[in-house]
Amino acid sequence: MPGHRFGRAVVMGGSMAGLLSARALADHFEKVVILERDSLPGMHAARKGAPQGTHVHVMLDAGHRLLERFFPGLLQDLQDQGAALIDSSRDVAWHHFGVWKSRVPQGLPLLVCTRPFLEWHVLRRVLALPNVEFHGGVSVEGLLTDASHQRVTGVRLKKAGVEEPLEAALVVDATGRGSRAPQWLEALGHARPDEEQVRVDLAYTTRLYEPPAHRQEDWKVLMQYPCPPVNWRAGFISRVEGDRWIVTLNGYFGEHAPADDEGFLAFARSLPQPDLYACLREARPLGPLTLHKVKESRWRHYERLARFPENWIILGDAVCAFNPVFGQGMSVAAQGAAQLLACIEEQARRFPTTLDGLAQRFRKRLSDTIRLPWFMGTNIDLQYPKAVGQRKPGVGVLHWYIRRMMERSSRDAAVHRQFNRLLHLQAGLGAVLQPSVALPVLADGARALFMPLHARANTDIRPAPPSSSP
Ligand SMILES: Cc1cc2nc3c(=O)[nH]c(=O)nc-3n(C[C@H](O)[C@H](O)[C@H](O)COP(=O)(O)OP(=O)(O)OC[C@H]3O[C@@H](n4cnc5c(N)ncnc54)[C@H](O)[C@@H]3O)c2cc1C
Repeated sequence: MPGHRFGRAVVMGGSMAGLLSARALADHFEKVVILERDSLPGMHAARKGAPQGTHVHVMLDAGHRLLERFFPGLLQDLQDQGAALIDSSRDVAWHHFGVWKSRVPQGLPLLVCTRPFLEWHVLRRVLALPNVEFHGGVSVEGLLTDASHQRVTGVRLKKAGVEEPLEAALVVDATGRGSRAPQWLEALGHARPDEEQVRVDLAYTTRLYEPPAHRQEDWKVLMQYPCPPVNWRAGFISRVEGDRWIVTLNGYFGEHAPADDEGFLAFARSLPQPDLYACLREARPLGPLTLHKVKESRWRHYERLARFPENWIILGDAVCAFNPVFGQGMSVAAQGAAQLLACIEEQARRFPTTLDGLAQRFRKRLSDTIRLPWFMGTNIDLQYPKAVGQRKPGVGVLHWYIRRMMERSSRDAAVHRQFNRLLHLQAGLGAVLQPSVALPVLADGARALFMPLHARANTDIRPAPPSSSP
């Protein structure tokens, strides 16, 4: 049973990782204080501190299940207000690796809505917790520690230009990609973490649209992803609350979709499949185009540090910022918060009077959570010769297998489902290596020696879902 046995926890950053961590801590701390540089956000607009909010966001199966665990009834609330839980195969028309994926229902729901809408609903639930405070307009400038710098004891915050200390039993850094944790560690006399990166020079260019009145699409999400290594442009349409489309165009390696009408449409027309462009031509823009650059995926390996201060937790994008096209970030942030809760429960059971050891245990467990989505996302990116990152021995075999599995998924619903289980963080690598997947994939690999792709897979015709109702 939860009990408020520890004192005050401070969470820096009130975005997805921060809000979910606060929820996790609320069961065990007398008070949880969230310090967020932005003022309290609204439901409709992105914030300065989370500019990705104007761009398409979806939440994977593992992620929204955790949202529901943290906030029972939240998924229904979201759907009542216009979000959708869609089947990630039947309702998604997805062209990737040069083929259209099969659309047999898989029972792996994808949560679809705009990011500010989702964050606002989560925030509302967090604010309803009696022992959680949210302070907007407050920036954390540094850490307070004991004299030996082995133990974090609070933060230095800045509000309206004035700095002040705030003591805490536990401090959580959820400040995202811009986290200054490595600099702070160094200033305290500790080592900086190793950083692993895969550089993709990607940009998102996005706008909301009113769909054409006469539209007849049979999908709720249309994804036109590239076929590495031969092209690196992508497009995404997702039906979001308010019966709108959010349309994102992605370009890798500096080949970004322009944020002007003409350039945006021309980029859409240049995608290997015509579907997205055909939709866009008839839709009515509802706002400005916005552009957001993501230079790289980046994982800071705090778990490898031999020494690390007590009472300091780092999670979310501050630890690992993924290439967003695979939609993993919020779900892994939720998994990090769930992992934090599990570690605190264990702490309360085994060492009820102290938090010593929690930070060490957590950073190791978090790395176990990150490993698989990192492996999957970066190995798809590393199929592009232009992606800059470490290619480990044997990577060629792995890339060959991924490609054949993707191709096979256009006409083999069982293979597609196992890949989707991996993508949705609901299964490990075993799902795509089991005989029911590996044997057909290897057989297709043999066929690939003498049979062109279009003879083995569905390259051109967008499959209809089994039921005609969208
Ligand atoms: C273009 C794009 C599209 C994406 N699409 C998806 C998707 O489809 N699905 C998905 O799951 N994920 C997606 N992501 C990733 C997702 O947005 C993040 O993983 C998620 O927001 C969790 O991040 P976070 O909370 O760790 O950090 P952030 O969301 O970056 O939030 C950090 C917060 O900390 C605050 N802050 C920073 N410094 C300070 C400070 N010193 N003091 C106080 N506050 C501070 C900021 O204002 C901000 O609110 C996408 C990301 C991008 C860039």
